[in-house]
Amino acid sequence: MTKKMQAAVVEQFGEGLVLKEMDIPTPGPGQILVKTEACGVCHTDLHAEAGDWPVKPSLPFIPGHEGIGIVVALGEGVTAVKEGDRVGVPWLYSACGHCEHCLAAWETVCGEAEFGGYTKNGGFAEYILANPNYVAHIPAGLSATEAAPLICAGITTYKGLKETKAHPGDWVVISGIGGLGHLAVQYAKAMGLHVCAVDIDDKKLEHATQLGADAVVNAKQEGAIEAVVKATGGGGHGVLITAPSLIAFNQGVAMTRKRGICVLVGLPPGEFPVPLFDVVANCVTIRGSFVGTRQDMAEALAFAAEGKVKADIELQPLSAINDVFKRLENGDVPSRVVIDFATI
Ligand code: NAD
Ligand code: ZN
Ligand code: ZN
Repeated sequence: MTKKMQAAVVEQFGEGLVLKEMDIPTPGPGQILVKTEACGVCHTDLHAEAGDWPVKPSLPFIPGHEGIGIVVALGEGVTAVKEGDRVGVPWLYSACGHCEHCLAAWETVCGEAEFGGYTKNGGFAEYILANPNYVAHIPAGLSATEAAPLICAGITTYKGLKETKAHPGDWVVISGIGGLGHLAVQYAKAMGLHVCAVDIDDKKLEHATQLGADAVVNAKQEGAIEAVVKATGGGGHGVLITAPSLIAFNQGVAMTRKRGICVLVGLPPGEFPVPLFDVVANCVTIRGSFVGTRQDMAEALAFAAEGKVKADIELQPLSAINDVFKRLENGDVPSRVVIDFATI
């Protein structure tokens, strides 16, 4: 008889997750089976469940791309990991390895990339099939629950900050202090940057101050853009927009210093108008940034292993997943919820 596992499945867009028993998958050649210990809940999982983006996952699918677990079985030919290793199964589930982007170590934009919890079943299940060449290697000393948010929220903000090209002593503006943003503040401080945190929720801003932000501005206050420009002495040398809100994108571009770089990371569906004259006359760069490479992953995890960055987590069982989704949608999650499979 095939063994069963608990999983949270999206069967129809916008109708929540269905908790059900499924067969535990068997790793084929080149695959591994990971027994899930923990999986963070990212705002991207809400976009996936809602079918928000132009390229949609095929139904049914299991979301979750911050899954951490132990390798329990190896498919034929696997040598990159061994049974008993603690690994993470990230958004970048696999890539082709030989296109121009893969060759340039930009595997995140590979045209043949697969995405964990989106085009491949993800971490809201007791077991995950993974590609051993693309899993995150979790350093000793980091627990599974601590590591979970780092393999999406952590790597994405670490890479996004690098893409601002800000130097130690420069100002970065971080818009959105949720799962991604609360880690961004810590990475930025560890990188020697001055931080101006922006959110619409004063509690998130208080948290940013506790984490070391040098200035905070509520995006809803009148004159929010001017307040950021004043606090930073001319706008952020770098701006990182993590907020899942289109207004934050308009504001973020206006909060960028002359010759600064505004990095777009948040992914609300839709478009936003760019004020051409300001962007052109101020020589502002606007660029997208998508998770990070395997090298970025190793670097982002090393910051945490050295104690410079620590995710603020709330543990919940898999059975609470629909409630967690609702809270995240309503902005009622303080930082990051992690599904703890020890309490399934
Ligand atoms: P979250 O819900 O945990 O945090 C969002 C934060 O933004 C909250 O603190 C909220 O109060 C704040 N916010 C909302 N509207 C705002 C506004 N107008 N101005 C400033 N702040 C505002 O979400 P998360 O898990 O941090 O994810 C954020 C976004 O990043 C999502 O759209 C997600 O899909 C995207 N994302 C992108 C990548 C990537 O690779 N580019 C990776 C992971 C997540
Ligand atoms: Zn994510
Ligand atoms: Zn490729």
